[in-house]
Amino acid sequence: MSDYVKDLIAEVKAKNPAQPEFHQAVQEVAESLAIVFERHPEYRTAKILERIIEPERVITFRVPWVDDQGEVQINRGYRIEMNSAIGPYKGGLRFHPSVTLGILKFLAFEQVFKNSLTTLPMGGGKGGSDFDPKGKSDLKIMRFCQAFMSELFRHIGADTDVPAGDIGVGGREIGYLFGQYKKLRNEFTGVLTGKGLNWGGSLIRPEATGYGSVYFASEMLSTKGKNLQGKMCLVSGSGNVAQYTVEKINELGGKVVTLSDSNGYIYDEKGIDKQKIAFVMDLKNVRRGRMQEYVDKFKGTVYTPVDPKLDYNPLWNHKADCAFPSATQNEINGKDAQNLVKNGVNVVSEGANMPTTLEGVRVFLDAKILYGPGKAANAGGVATSGLEMTQNSMRLNWTREEVDTRLRMIMHSIHTSCVQMADRFGTPGNYVNGANIAGFLKVADAMMDQGVV
Ligand code: NDP
Repeated sequence: MSDYVKDLIAEVKAKNPAQPEFHQAVQEVAESLAIVFERHPEYRTAKILERIIEPERVITFRVPWVDDQGEVQINRGYRIEMNSAIGPYKGGLRFHPSVTLGILKFLAFEQVFKNSLTTLPMGGGKGGSDFDPKGKSDLKIMRFCQAFMSELFRHIGADTDVPAGDIGVGGREIGYLFGQYKKLRNEFTGVLTGKGLNWGGSLIRPEATGYGSVYFASEMLSTKGKNLQGKMCLVSGSGNVAQYTVEKINELGGKVVTLSDSNGYIYDEKGIDKQKIAFVMDLKNVRRGRMQEYVDKFKGTVYTPVDPKLDYNPLWNHKADCAFPSATQNEINGKDAQNLVKNGVNVVSEGANMPTTLEGVRVFLDAKILYGPGKAANAGGVATSGLEMTQNSMRLNWTREEVDTRLRMIMHSIHTSCVQMADRFGTPGNYVNGANIAGFLKVADAMMDQGVV
């Protein structure tokens, strides 16, 4: 690690205590950029990275609401407006009890680079709340979403800041949030993405992150003259990203044998086929049940509950060719990464944001496997949100084929940028450096053009 990066990380830690995920995200990017600063000292002089690290604006607010029993509840709401150099702030909302300022800052920071990679004009942001939607009635969810938007609406807008979904925020929540925004502002605009199809949403948006992560894996495989046909795949999570990852892997001839939620994971050696993933979609999106039910429905499958005593995740310890972490941050540690490599995995495409620890990333890079970091591999979601914004501005809807073709083209172009930048800066095949450098340069040049603001 260069002295510059060491000093920068020390300062980030001192200034942002108790935000380990944010420190981790900054460190990974800063290490990749060391070579850029050597060749282009002008970015260092202008303190571009230091400015990107400091959010342009952080909004925190009280979210009071009344539950089904008439009891007053108070949650904390956030919106991190990280960087608007290349477009309006753009990034999802996360509702999960683990949400803190540090988690959202790491996600907003990652989002800046990811959005830059998509080729679309979008800045970076992220938001959410420590509200736990699990097990709550639709009515409670609606009341919470309305309370959350009653404050957020003053800070967002179609040309200012355009939130979307993330963990715990899917189509249902976006609907309630949009309804409240429309009521308060008395305007129907593309202020949120992930909307329903008959009120401004885009075809393929729900599928986009999962599909995109599989397209990215296919792009990586194609550099070795291979494809997903017959490949054994491990997928974690069972939410939006995981579901459509499985759907696309099946379509391209691969076989998925795992899925998980926060209680445990299932292993199905016959493969999670079309009929089985339809069951999971109904279980998770309609009945809002737990993955354990999968083994009651499909005989010969195995459920393993989470064991907090283990220092590794057994989901990552099966023989396979490809892994698609699609649940949450830091779900693959150093030991998991070693297990994956040992078991034959040579493609990792991250559907989740920062699912691999710094130690795990080092294992993948040292093993020289095809490792697609989240900010490149899962950028299809926000890219299709960008396409939703374009359709909203034009007031027309593209067909499924048109959006899917554009998504494919964007994933192809992100892959090409990563490969070219990694080559140009002397680390061929290193998608981490490629993504960080390509994402950085576009934002950095825009910031240089726009002066110290
Ligand atoms: P969902 O809420 O739809 O699903 C999340 C899944 O991950 C659930 O299966 C959930 O299990 C599991 N999960 C969440 N937290 C944990 C945890 N601490 N430990 C184990 N499992 C956990 O979210 P998404 O599918 O939308 O998001 C998944 C990941 O993809 C996140 O990292 C998100 O930031 C990233 N992402 C999402 C995009 C999108 O378009 N939705 C775009 C780009 C990235 P349980 O049901 O038990 O909570």
